[in-house]
Parts: sequence; C-alpha cells; structure tokens
Amino acid sequence: MKFAMAVISAAALPALALASQPNAFYHHAARQASAASSAATSKASSAAPSGSSATSSASAATGSTAATSAPASGATSVATPSLLSINPTAIPLASIVANAPSASTHSITQTFAAGAAPSDISSAPPLPDLSKISPSSYPALDKPPPTDSPEVQQWINEVKNSGVQIPGFSPTIAGGCPANMNAVNDKSRCWWTCGGCTRDTDIVACPEKMSWGLTYDDGPAPYTPDLLNYLSDQKLLATFFVVGSRAISYPAMLQQEYQLGHQIAVHTWSHPSLTTLTNEEIIAEFGWTKKIIKDVLGVTPLYWRPPFGDIDDRVRAIAKAMNLTPIIWTRISATATFDTDDFNIHGGVTSAQQVLQNWDNILGNVSSINTGFIVLEHDLFQQSVEVATGYILPDALAHQPPFKIGPVTTCMNMPAGNSYLETNDNSTNPLPISASAVPTISPGAPGSAQASGVSSGSGKNGAMTTSTSGFAVVLAGLLAGASAILL
Ligand SMILES: [Zn+2]
Repeated sequence: MKFAMAVISAAALPALALASQPNAFYHHAARQASAASSAATSKASSAAPSGSSATSSASAATGSTAATSAPASGATSVATPSLLSINPTAIPLASIVANAPSASTHSITQTFAAGAAPSDISSAPPLPDLSKISPSSYPALDKPPPTDSPEVQQWINEVKNSGVQIPGFSPTIAGGCPANMNAVNDKSRCWWTCGGCTRDTDIVACPEKMSWGLTYDDGPAPYTPDLLNYLSDQKLLATFFVVGSRAISYPAMLQQEYQLGHQIAVHTWSHPSLTTLTNEEIIAEFGWTKKIIKDVLGVTPLYWRPPFGDIDDRVRAIAKAMNLTPIIWTRISATATFDTDDFNIHGGVTSAQQVLQNWDNILGNVSSINTGFIVLEHDLFQQSVEVATGYILPDALAHQPPFKIGPVTTCMNMPAGNSYLETNDNSTNPLPISASAVPTISPGAPGSAQASGVSSGSGKNGAMTTSTSGFAVVLAGLLAGASAILL
C-alpha cells in the first residue's frame, strides 16, 4: 500500500521538529576510527518489494551494499563513526536524506479479530472491534482538542476530584526558554526543558547499567511496519509513545504493536508543548489519547512522554491526576542528552551521518553512567526508521558487553502488565492516585464510535482504508499547524 508520503515536506517540520537539544556529547574515542567512504550507488529507497508483507529484516532495500558512505552533497560533512554491525539490507546513508524519494510502505503483517486473545499479558481484556471505531468520533487530527466537549468536561471534573494539587503556574509562552526567563529562573517550577530539572516520579533512565529502554515516538505512521518487522526479526520489544490522532489513523497498526508485546504509552493527542497550554487543554490532550488507546486496545496506558520533553510541575501534577507517569530520556547535562535527533533528517535539519555521530556519542556516555539509559528515537518518518533498522539497532545488537534491550516497563524490572491500568500489578506498581479517583476512560462514551455510521465494508480492510485517508488528514493537519508550535 502506497501512502502519500510525498506530500510531507520540510514545511511540515516546524510543528514537530523543534525539540532537539544540541548534542555536543563526550567523544567515544574507541569508536571514532574510520570515516567511511564507499560511495553508495544504488537508489535503494526506491527498490522496495511492493505490497509484500516483508518479514525479513530492514525496511526496503534490495541489492544495496551495506556500507557507511560519504555525506550527501550539500549536507554538512560529518565523519561517519565506525559501526560494529550494519544491516546487510540497509539503505545507504547517502540515500537517507531529506529529499529522498518515498520508499514503498508495507502493510502490517497481522490483523486481529475483535475479541481476540490479547498479547501475552495475562488478564488483559479482549481486543476491541475496530469496525466500531470511527475517526469522526474523535477530535481533529493533529489539532488540540476542544475543551468544551462532554468527555473533556468529565475528565476536568475527575482531575479536580483526584485530590492532586495542581500548581498555579501560568502557562509559558511560545518561544521556549529565552522567551520565558521568569519561568526558567523559578526553580520551584522544575521545568525539564529549560535546565533539566526532574522529580522522583520522572523515569529518565533504566536502573541497571547496560540496560536500554528502547523507545519510538510520534507514530503510528506509514513506515512503522518496517520497524516492527525488524524488531520482530531480532526479537526486540520497545515502548511506543503514540500520538492519539495518529493512533486513530492507524488503529490496526496500534493493535499489532500491542499484540507483539510492545509497550504502548501516551504522547498526547496533537503533540503540543504542554507547558504552553492551560490546565484544561492539557487534560484534553491526555484524556483523548488515553481514550483512543483504550478504545483500540482495551487497555488504558499508565505511562506517557511529554512532546519535546516539555514538562514542569503543573504538567506533572495534571498527568498524575490522570494516572500517567512520565518517561523522558536520559540527560547527563545540557549538552549531553540521549537524543539521536533522528527526527530532523526528514526536514534536512540534520544528516544521517550526524545522527550516527549522536548515537556514537550516546554510546560514549553510556559507559560513563552507572545506570541504564533511555534514548529518544522516532518512527514517524522513513529516514528515522531507515537509520534505526539499518544502523543503530544492528550496531547496538553487536555491542559488547551486550545491552539488555526492552520496553521501559521491562527495564524498570516490572511485568509488561504494569503498562496498563487494567493489568497493573498494584503490589509492584502502586498507581499515582488512589483507585477511587481513577479517571474513567471507557469505550462507547457519548459521541464515540457508534455515533457515526461506519461503512459496511469496514473490518480489517476497512480499517486500513480508513488509515489511508486518515493519514492524508494528518498531513493536512501537520501542514496547517506548521507554525503553531514554537518551542
Ligand atoms: Zn514527539
């Protein structure tokens, strides 16, 4: 199935791509050896087998020679770190560029019937019926949900009744740290984005050294199946922080992630900088994302990641009141965050070579800390998936001593069921708020699925048809909202 990826352009990027911190990490001298040189000649990104439900590793290339390569012309010249292993079918680095032709997409390899036995989490509820879910019953794609709907009003009341005190900090203004120096200097706000302040409730690393909480943000998206195929081939599991409005675009994909055993967590509905929003707007972002995940999977996520890492104590308190625990990514200092910056290849802000340099620097930092780590990566664009499956993951799998790679729940030494309200083991994972105050996110709420007509052809195929058209709307939303998010 071919999606209209060509519509995505650099113009869409400002909405999502502005979170990156500078990545001047420590050098990892042992890995700095050779700059690569073999010129990539094959146009691998257009060589994908079409329509296959590929089960082999890597995304799409056939016949390409795996090799590091010289930077694409026009890109900043960055020496490519030597890697311990590269996927034999990796897209050549020189072809992983902003203006690369859209690679063929692959359908998900499995769909699941309503009522199917859920993933390997014991006591998980049956999988919901996707034919009962209509995108028209949810807020607009990639746009902040209105706060006057009955659903949001209910969640606002539940937050009020949760017993959690919400600090009275006013929202920050667009423009990030420089535009908000009063907030930056107010240490009681504990604003991670500007200074890296964390609270004990923030998960920022895995406790055990050499343990890697593998995470991918901003999907589900057209190239997510390529990542899922590679992860399955390598018997790897990850945490996916999903954007609610994209989950409704790709509900079958979300079900596959869940059924394969990956952890599903919240990444808001429209990917805003949360500290710029009002309390009510934040509640709407969390509530709708929890709801779509519950409606598609039958379980309510207990973990979330702030878009752009934008969290302060007001956002923390609202998340806590909605039973959401934050997972950020590891940060050693202002210039050493575990951010690959992979998201920015698509817009031409960075190069694949630089992303591998960032990865190499992360590996250098891994050896300098006494805990495990969590890295920021994305599955929204093909370039990020190509770098992950072609280079970063093969290199990580060859690392010695070996990394223990898994979802964040696993790296926190918890059972997978602790990822969700309905399957949580309260003895190992006490909830942020008491059970009596747990917000109700239920399927079939007023205005949801059943309210609008689902075409008679819906079902497995219908779900993917919906996904295709939904993604076009996502793109429209991205383009329309391109200048809305300024942090
Ligand atoms: Zn994100």
